Amino acid sequence: MLHEKKSIQDNIDDDVYASVDLSVSLPKYKFPGEEQDPRRAYSVVHDELMLDGNSRQNLATFCQTWAEPEVHKLMDECMDKNMIDKDEYPQTAEIEARCVHMLADLWNSPAAVNTMGCSTIGSSEAAMLSGMAMKWRWREKRRAAGKSVDKPNMICGPVQVCWHKFARYWDIELREIPMEQDRLIMTPEEVLKRCDENTIGVVPTLGVTFTCQYEPVKAVADALDVLEQETGLDIPMHVDGASGGFLAPFCSPNLVWDFRIPRVKSINSSGHKFGLAPLGVGWVIWREKEDLPEDLVFHVNYLGGDMLDFALNFSRPGGSIVSQYYNFLRLGRDGYRKIHTACYETAEFIANEIEKLGPFEIIYNGQMDAGIPALCWKLIDGTESDFNLYDFADRLSTRGWQIPAYSMPANRQDLVIQRILVRHGVSRDLGGLLVEDMKRSLEYFRLHPGNTQMTATEATGFHH
Ligand SMILES: *Cc1c(COP(=O)(O)O)cnc(C)c1O
Repeated sequence: MLHEKKSIQDNIDDDVYASVDLSVSLPKYKFPGEEQDPRRAYSVVHDELMLDGNSRQNLATFCQTWAEPEVHKLMDECMDKNMIDKDEYPQTAEIEARCVHMLADLWNSPAAVNTMGCSTIGSSEAAMLSGMAMKWRWREKRRAAGKSVDKPNMICGPVQVCWHKFARYWDIELREIPMEQDRLIMTPEEVLKRCDENTIGVVPTLGVTFTCQYEPVKAVADALDVLEQETGLDIPMHVDGASGGFLAPFCSPNLVWDFRIPRVKSINSSGHKFGLAPLGVGWVIWREKEDLPEDLVFHVNYLGGDMLDFALNFSRPGGSIVSQYYNFLRLGRDGYRKIHTACYETAEFIANEIEKLGPFEIIYNGQMDAGIPALCWKLIDGTESDFNLYDFADRLSTRGWQIPAYSMPANRQDLVIQRILVRHGVSRDLGGLLVEDMKRSLEYFRLHPGNTQMTATEATGFHH
């Protein structure tokens, strides 16, 4: 049989990296003029993503970085599902509604059937929606009483940046309780000092971003009950349970923080954090129908039918919501408890090991009931060392670990800490390997003393 002999160039062309297209640099900032072979274009993009590092070793993020193969499959199957087209994808809409009801049940809502709630793109959007509902309810009440609606304020502890955005975008004075010495979260006393007739609500966080601790929701609610008895001021609460909303119900069932407290009018949580769903889903649930003012909800008819719509976005991917539902079915309360308990145990293990290293003081050790599966530490006060936590973070990054060091907000900007989030997939074994790398890093500092210390601005590459 006669073969037509291929030229060397033809053979080489089968290899992505030896192809003529990839022998030149592809456009980066100008819109490309020519087309590319999909395999080659894919290789270029795929390879560039390597430089992001390995997300499993990113111990800074609260978000999911591991998912079961079934979740990958569902995400693929849902590529075309637009969450907003509830009439076109009625079953996806039904799945979203079931998740809302399941969460209301998980958070002990009194409104079993008439649950008001929705999915969002994450807790940030959920915070905006619940914050708006608080502002609207307060304004209605003030107007009905013929009082001024000029100066709304909101009280919180050290909050995630989404609440700063909410306050700025919607013209609310944010009364954020500053940290003082060893008090790094809100207390009932500090909340009461800031309450007045213009307070739209108090927002405790279940799993504070900086230290990962739970704020005392019940104690704050009790204090607000007393305030109401004494002054008549009835101040509602919203709980930012971005992380804790998917932890406490499984691992700390006796901790009272949710709708069991009548003053808690709404709760948000991130499905893509400890809800174990892929990126792109959050939730907000209101206590009862009247807690979500009617005029915030839009009725849309151009997709067919009369659809309720309360969201900042319009089009939104449905896959992470479908995956959330899969997780609920797949894991149930038992499954979530097992996965999260393993994470708490790994966090405590790592915290114990870090304490043994010598120079560090553990601030939070991942104790169940006190916060989320995470840990944070600082350098022991008053000891001379050849390195600071920015150096330590930088050194650990040579092995791929992303464990940022950062300073606290007001009034503890002097306090620099490092934090690790222990998520699904951060195994005990991986934790052990990390501790070994920490020992090697300390040894490196011992052998190379007098390194000039890094400052926060030099320690680039880490963001939280
Ligand atoms: C992560 C987080 C948010 C923001 O949530 P996203 O889902 O990332 O939008 C808000 N509040 C707290 C306490 C968080 O941990």
